[in-house]
Amino acid sequence: MTLNRLNEITKNYFLKNLDCGRARIFLYEPHLPFNPLPKTHAKINPNYLAYPRLTRIAKEVSHALSDLSPVRFKGDLKKAFYDAGLGLRLNNNLLMIPPYGTRVSIEILDILGNYEEKLIDLSQEKQYCKKCNLCKKNCPVGALDNGFNAIICLRAEMNNYKESTAPFEKLNGNILGCEACQLHCPHNLHLKTEDIPKDLAEILYLPTLLNYCKNPENYPLVAEKLDFYIGKNMNNPEKIQFFVELAMKNA
Ligand code: SF4
Ligand code: SF4
Repeated sequence: MTLNRLNEITKNYFLKNLDCGRARIFLYEPHLPFNPLPKTHAKINPNYLAYPRLTRIAKEVSHALSDLSPVRFKGDLKKAFYDAGLGLRLNNNLLMIPPYGTRVSIEILDILGNYEEKLIDLSQEKQYCKKCNLCKKNCPVGALDNGFNAIICLRAEMNNYKESTAPFEKLNGNILGCEACQLHCPHNLHLKTEDIPKDLAEILYLPTLLNYCKNPENYPLVAEKLDFYIGKNMNNPEKIQFFVELAMKNA
């Protein structure tokens, strides 16, 4: 049985049959690094745009394959990719899928049936994490000094911004995510950069964003666009305001 509909929706997936008469679809969505905006604008990690895109793709796939009882996998996604041999764990604790390096968002759906598998051979890649330590050297807080330390990683700490004493000024104007360890990783250096969507770039102008954060009800179009680009969960005006004010202070 083929999954034509899945191929029409996305080519970025692997498929592996499970033992229980089900198959697992490993979806991934690449996110290319953005060309920098002027200092008057907030920075944003492209990963935060890829995840909502991937969520829409996963919903479309679920809908298209609804007769195969698709179920979203709720376990550790990265581990499921590693365990299936469909990605490598790098020193920076990120999943690497060639040719996109660590710049991938991931999602998994399980469906009924067994199919022709779509896998990837990573045997050549296994030695590719050169232990060059560029991620470690460029992490602004030493979160990779002794393996990955989620407690001090700025990206992780942003979720805890109210109580955190982390040096968020080291985010260097980034209001969503930290990608210092990805920017220098040799796995990613071949990737082309792309422009941030124009309508989002306009919103990222710091005074515009601050006005929105202070009175989101007055800016429904901004709210709608942020919901679309970064997802409702990440569109938290109070949290964004915290990082926007920091970015303005340090601009
Ligand atoms: S995301 Fe930022 S803080 Fe976290 S490990 Fe990477 S460089 Fe360090
Ligand atoms: S920067 Fe170097 S050491 Fe760090 S994950 Fe990438 S290849 Fe590995």
